[in-house]
Amino acid sequence: MTIGSFYPPQRTLMGPGPSDIYPQVLQALSRPTIGHLDPLFIGMMDELKQLLQYAFQTQNTFTIAVSAPGSAGMEACFVNLVEPGDKVIVCRNGVFGDRMRENVERCGGVAVMVDNNWGEPVDPTLVAQTLESHPDAKIVAFVHAETSTGALSDAQAIAKLAREHDCLTIVDAVTSLGGVPLLVDEWQLDAVYSGSQKCLSCVPGLSPLTFSEKAVAKIQRRQVPVQSWFLDQSLVLGYWSGEGKRSYHHTAPVNSLYALHEALVLLQNEGLENAWKRHKDAHLELREGLEQLGIEFVVDEAHRLPQLNAVYIPDGIDDAEVRKTLLERYNLEIGAGLGALAGKAWRIGLMGYAARSENVALCLRALETTLK
Ligand SMILES: *Cc1c(COP(=O)(O)O)cnc(C)c1O
Repeated sequence: MTIGSFYPPQRTLMGPGPSDIYPQVLQALSRPTIGHLDPLFIGMMDELKQLLQYAFQTQNTFTIAVSAPGSAGMEACFVNLVEPGDKVIVCRNGVFGDRMRENVERCGGVAVMVDNNWGEPVDPTLVAQTLESHPDAKIVAFVHAETSTGALSDAQAIAKLAREHDCLTIVDAVTSLGGVPLLVDEWQLDAVYSGSQKCLSCVPGLSPLTFSEKAVAKIQRRQVPVQSWFLDQSLVLGYWSGEGKRSYHHTAPVNSLYALHEALVLLQNEGLENAWKRHKDAHLELREGLEQLGIEFVVDEAHRLPQLNAVYIPDGIDDAEVRKTLLERYNLEIGAGLGALAGKAWRIGLMGYAARSENVALCLRALETTLK
């Protein structure tokens, strides 16, 4: 048997990620591969750092892209910042908060959970109470935009509480970066990671990451080395910085980094505020159409993510059947419910390039016809 080339169909991706890629980003991906220590490549990486600083709204010197998906960015934060015995307050209001707990425990830390209902944001009052009763806590970890439920938490308020109790923050901004306001310096967040394939509309497999000076200082004070060699950021830093003394750590995913550079140039040219507004506008358009179809949102209006719309599946409708029809007839992917919302909700993504009227119209028309 001879296996031929793989040609995927042209789908429209409106799930929880990956999102549709900007055509310019796909073009950037196919440019010639050059050596990852080539001076021209190093120049590109320096620009990439500046572009990431803009996207994160930070001056943090430690701002890079981890050569692996968002989950590796999450792991990079925990393995570097959590030392054995460290107490970490972990907020859980969906799937990703629970992964944070697993990370803490695998690092030998002690996770103290703050639980909120699925579909609700993290409640800062509960965080405050937990900080009061655990004065020895070192870190507060939370998900800014919970992709499993579509809820947005108040990162600024939670970070302020953490600071008042001398705790660092680890923030999951995988779905928030580029889609809703995320102000790393103004909100004084310490370790923030994201993903390339959500609101940046870049190819999957890279995780933007930024550490504050306080976070870097905690890493430098570590008594025990980070147990992961690949994710030990003190080693990676030598690769991403240091004029003239850049050394080999691992082979950078050269072409994927071209793609991220291009996606961030597009974001810079559009302007962050405009990108946030575009996501919001697309969400309002989608909301209006869904309401006309009698479809209800999981999250209440004040805490809804524009880029991830979790909606209840109408009574008597076969979840899998509808998603199959959307995929086969309309080449349209929407997301299934996850965890507690499996079989009960759909997750309609309006991320990055997908946050456009054309996409909203396609999705509404396809849903309306299919539901009939
Ligand atoms: C997608 C996502 C992740 C994981 O990112 P991967 O690139 O799939 O590893 C983590 N947290 C949140 C909130 C996400 O939406």
